Amino acid sequence: MRLSSRVRNINAGGSDGWDVFYRARQLKAAGVPVIELTIGEHDTRTAADILDAMHRSARGGHTGYAEVPGIKGLRDKVAERIRIRSGVETTRDNVLITAGGQAALFAAHLACCDPGDRALFIDPYYVTYPGTIRSGGALPVPVKARPENGFQPLAADIDAVAGGAKSLLINTPNNPAGVIYARETLDNIAAVVKTHDMWLISDEVYDSQIWQGTHLSPRALPGMADRTLAIGSMSKSHAMTGSRLGWIIGPRDAITVLADLATNTNYGVAGFIQDAALYALNQGDAAETAVAAPFRRRRDKALKILSGQTAVKPVHPDGAMYLLLDIRATGLSGDGFANRLLDAHHIAVMPGESFGQAAAGHVRVAMTVADDIFCDALETLVAFARDLARQAAA
Ligand code: PMP
Repeated sequence: MRLSSRVRNINAGGSDGWDVFYRARQLKAAGVPVIELTIGEHDTRTAADILDAMHRSARGGHTGYAEVPGIKGLRDKVAERIRIRSGVETTRDNVLITAGGQAALFAAHLACCDPGDRALFIDPYYVTYPGTIRSGGALPVPVKARPENGFQPLAADIDAVAGGAKSLLINTPNNPAGVIYARETLDNIAAVVKTHDMWLISDEVYDSQIWQGTHLSPRALPGMADRTLAIGSMSKSHAMTGSRLGWIIGPRDAITVLADLATNTNYGVAGFIQDAALYALNQGDAAETAVAAPFRRRRDKALKILSGQTAVKPVHPDGAMYLLLDIRATGLSGDGFANRLLDAHHIAVMPGESFGQAAAGHVRVAMTVADDIFCDALETLVAFARDLARQAAA
């Protein structure tokens, strides 16, 4: 039986860009000691006190259907977190609790785009973006943010493809580039989405991982709260990736229809997970800072290791748990470099090309292993790149 073209085309018939990742996993399964600097998952697990809260809730009976838009206490708490961080008036009615940021991204696109509508997103991008847009029936249109502009997207590039588009998806702090969009970048984006009467879908799941500068939610810019759906998640801020707890912040009427969508998709999020999330948020910012601390520390160590050489140039890591490294001096593509590094030293990094064409000639390093292993692996990567760069220059 033939399946719908929508589901058959989710990956557009192409590879999902994770070949090196799968190869590393195969080597590992065969007993090779591979150092994986690939996926965005903490090397710590969800804190014990959060798990205790989850257990208490489940044992207390919160195992039935939970309120579909999210339990009131959690929606209130998320609204408070957003209000304090962004300065924008936000109440429970602006919050829909979702099964992670991923479900929020899907729901947001379904809400903004009709089938066949153009949905813009910035390249480089988190790997699921084009597939998420296609899953919602819309047409993904990438807009390059260029290395020479520090991966800050330019309004002119967005404007050039915005005709008829319904939405623009941005992500700051950015995966994979590790950059935070500047105020000027966001002002220009706000202007262009207004000109073309588009929705802005703002993925802010790394808002607790800020190493330098400040994170500004575009929802806070003049006139933007009415046309922005902001995505958040407990995955990165509280090492709760497996709990699948995220949210969409948007105008009240958008949240009302998104709740209808939630009724007809997940029918809400497990009550004991929501109680655990509420408990976790009630622990305040210090708990988030503690979860982020290892990445900040490794980022600082990485900058020292990367200084004083030119074979590997880091894109300035302002936020998020990744380093994007420019390895073009080696003469290799990101893909070629990642494969050769895996073969030669059993270190797995992600080719920049996995995240779109804009990050070609780069590799993404996830700072998600213990400090000593991380530093050793990075030193090896730099030495490997230096040899290749020397050969390329000869
Ligand atoms: N957005 C970005 C930019 C991400 O990197 C991720 C996960 N790696 C997500 C969204 C989805 O996260 P989750 O569904 O776990 O909240």
